[in-house]
Amino acid sequence: TSPHNTQAAAMAIPIPSRQLFINGDWTEPLLKKRIPIINPSTEEIIGDIPAATAEDVDVAVEAARSALTRNRGKDWATASGAVRAKYLRAIAAKIKERKPELAKLETVDCGKPLKESEADMDDVITCFEYYADLAEGLDAKQKAPISLPLKAFKSYVIKEPIGVVGLIVPWNYPLLMAIWKVAPALAAGCAAILKPSELASVTCLELGEVCREVDLPAGVLNILPGLGHEAGAPLASHPHVDKIAFTGSTRTAIKIMTAAAQRVKPVTLELGGKGPIVVFEDCDIDKAVEWTIFGCFYTNGQICSATSRLIVHESIAAEFLDRLVKWSENIKISDPLEEGCKLGPIVSKGQYENVMKFISNAKSEGATILYGGNRPKHLEKGYYVEPTIITDVNTSMQIWREEVFGPVLCVKTFTTEDEAIELANDTHYGLGGAVVSKDLERCDRVSKALQLGAVWVNCSQPCFCQAPFGGVKWSGFGRELGEWGLENYLCVKQ
Ligand code: NAD
Repeated sequence: TSPHNTQAAAMAIPIPSRQLFINGDWTEPLLKKRIPIINPSTEEIIGDIPAATAEDVDVAVEAARSALTRNRGKDWATASGAVRAKYLRAIAAKIKERKPELAKLETVDCGKPLKESEADMDDVITCFEYYADLAEGLDAKQKAPISLPLKAFKSYVIKEPIGVVGLIVPWNYPLLMAIWKVAPALAAGCAAILKPSELASVTCLELGEVCREVDLPAGVLNILPGLGHEAGAPLASHPHVDKIAFTGSTRTAIKIMTAAAQRVKPVTLELGGKGPIVVFEDCDIDKAVEWTIFGCFYTNGQICSATSRLIVHESIAAEFLDRLVKWSENIKISDPLEEGCKLGPIVSKGQYENVMKFISNAKSEGATILYGGNRPKHLEKGYYVEPTIITDVNTSMQIWREEVFGPVLCVKTFTTEDEAIELANDTHYGLGGAVVSKDLERCDRVSKALQLGAVWVNCSQPCFCQAPFGGVKWSGFGRELGEWGLENYLCVKQ
């Protein structure tokens, strides 16, 4: 163990060895395939996960379908919302008990600082509890009358679960992104097949153990890690899956949408971003710098809604960049289990190489690396990238146009408000962005002009399970979280 991660090594915990979670139990993949888990901080293999293929997907879909139809009247789909809420609360309570262990597993699996994994686990618990409340609320909303113009007729509406849903998620918030889908799907009365990312499935598999412990009815939630083309693709095209909810890249979303279209299957898509943070000259510079750092470097820069394009008023740009560099110098880069770590490694070797390629392309296209751009010198191992700030950027450069998914901020200045809006909207993406100014009327005006699913004012990234989250343009469609998240899994019947 090198000196930098002695503390981390002392904190490491064994990775449980699991199988696929199908029909309420652990099941070996039919082809017995497994994928190694690599700790991105040490580059060591620390365990493995089972890898599902099309045959396993068939078995899981069958289990999910029978969970919806067995003992008609006592099955999951027609159980009262109150019954489903009881299970969701039991799951939340178990996760709470196991929070320290789950947070560590998340950190060694995907590399995010332990404090951030702990915050994710808190959000996971809150999300289950929130959708438990909404499940109960559904009972009272059934049979809502519609007012008709002709008195001779009566009409009312009931909300039914869509059926069997496929939930395909990425690696940057491995458990939390899964729960944004699992909690509302189960609350609505759907049965689900969860396909975590091959790069980070450990905590999603532990959710299987939690489901066993709370006796969740068999088949209601099935968890099938595996490669995208081997486990995700058969799920997306499966004739007995009624809906796909996907979070991941725009590239994969196109494949999923194409597969779903063959069966006229609904999809919701939460995709990538290239978020702007527009900083006006009247801002509180220190606070604005702090939010800029947080908005781009949190989760090691691997946030879909990261505000990775800084658009700052020319009159404060020099001072702003000066303070941004000073902040960046003080970011503790270390093994993510270490106390005080603010920036851990990128999730995998492949992603690390992608990020480095973005930086070298920016240089060769003529941009300036104002800060960072390299592996940190004090770390011999691990997929670490320094927080990186890039200036002299023009709008045709790759670094301005494409999502990096790493701790890389690119900077442009503006003179007028209209110019700032034009720069902010100069992207195919439209997920999240931020406006920073003391003039709240201006913030309001600019927010309305931005083509985004979420605009943060005088902050960046805070996210609450009560509020809708999702994008426009290449960032996808449909909204997760809040009551919108529940509607994703419900059908309206008149
Ligand atoms: P990805 O698209 O490579 O993979 C996402 C999931 O899709 C994985 O589980 C993968 O195995 C699966 N998959 C891959 N090919 C598939 C196929 N042909 N059919 C079905 N499933 C397939 O994305 P990623 O690299 O895991 O995650 C990073 C991306 O996710 C970034 O673009 C990021 O912005 C986006 N993201 C979006 C949000 C959001 O809420 N909008 C949140 C987190 C991440």
